[in-house]
Amino acid sequence: MFLEKLEIFGFKSFAEKVEVRLSPGITGVIGPNGCGKSNISDALRWVLGEQNMRQLRGDVAEDVIFGGSALRKPLGMAEAVLTISNSRNLLPTEYTEVQVGRRLYRSGESQYLLNKQSVRLKDVRNLFFDTGMGSNAYSVIERQMVDNILADGSNQRRFLFEEAAGITKYKTRKRETMNKLEATETDLIRVNDLVVEIEKELGSLRYQAGKARRWEKMHTEIKAMDLRLAASAQKTRVLRVSALDGALGELRAQIEAGSAALATAEAGLEAVRLRVLEGEKALAAAQAEFNRMGSEYAAAKSHMAVGEERARGLLAQLAQGEADHTRMVAQLTALEAERTRLMSEEVQLSDVLSERQALLVQHE
Ligand code: ATP
Repeated sequence: MFLEKLEIFGFKSFAEKVEVRLSPGITGVIGPNGCGKSNISDALRWVLGEQNMRQLRGDVAEDVIFGGSALRKPLGMAEAVLTISNSRNLLPTEYTEVQVGRRLYRSGESQYLLNKQSVRLKDVRNLFFDTGMGSNAYSVIERQMVDNILADGSNQRRFLFEEAAGITKYKTRKRETMNKLEATETDLIRVNDLVVEIEKELGSLRYQAGKARRWEKMHTEIKAMDLRLAASAQKTRVLRVSALDGALGELRAQIEAGSAALATAEAGLEAVRLRVLEGEKALAAAQAEFNRMGSEYAAAKSHMAVGEERARGLLAQLAQGEADHTRMVAQLTALEAERTRLMSEEVQLSDVLSERQALLVQHE
């Protein structure tokens, strides 16, 4: 099993995509302090699933994403892809070349890939169990780890030897099996408790079951009685329905006869309506005639009043004329008497005149 290639992009100081080809014969990476040598081993550890940020010389997961420099903006994602040759089939997979990839976005979203297929972290770990690789294995050892192994503070040395001996896988499986066993025992205790409880409940359930059976029997009897009752009620109903059907037939015949009578009455009513209409028309004409005669009567009455008034005037004029006539007759009588007197006076005067003329002649 050989590391063939490590591709890094956006991981720590690698803002550009970098491909590190680990061709046979390459035994080390050299460079000045701070040029990024340890970042390569960090990328190896990270891609194998390292979760402890202190092992990667950071505090939080995003610390592995390129955080920007004086000339470049920060990136939003870190990616590392490790290509391993599996020609000796040490990795439990049918592929002769295995590509392990890991991506982390600033949003917190992360992804593991095995030969470009999205997988779980557990799948990556399972692949490298007891191969000496993996984030906790001994193939990637940085300075702090060497110190830890020498000091053996947290049983690191034992872990290293166990991993090298290939028993980590079995220890992990044993731990998992023990956990399962513990869980099963806990379940068993719970089941026993349940059995005791259930047995307690069983007595009361038996009593309830007896009650339920009695109820069932009575219920069946009630159902049968209900059915008989329903059948008898149904029979009565059928008889009533047939009686009602007869009554209904009669009623229908009556309704038909009533309908015919109603049609005749309606026809009669229509004729009466026509007559009423004609009567109304005649009444309207008579009313108009009456109105016309009324106005003529009123006109005649006013003519008559005027005539009476004029007759009264003429009578008054006649009375006045008669009075004038009487007065004039009296005047005429008086004037004729005056005339007679004046004629006699004239005769006298003519006599006087004749006397005087005779006198005058005498005198002359
Ligand atoms: P030394 O020999 O001193 O240990 P080295 O060559 O191993 O150094 P590294 O420690 O791998 O170098 O790299 C350190 C460099 O990586 C520093 O310049 C640091 O600024 C840069 N670096 C680390 N994390 C990031 C990041 N997230 N974004 C950008 N640059 C980073």
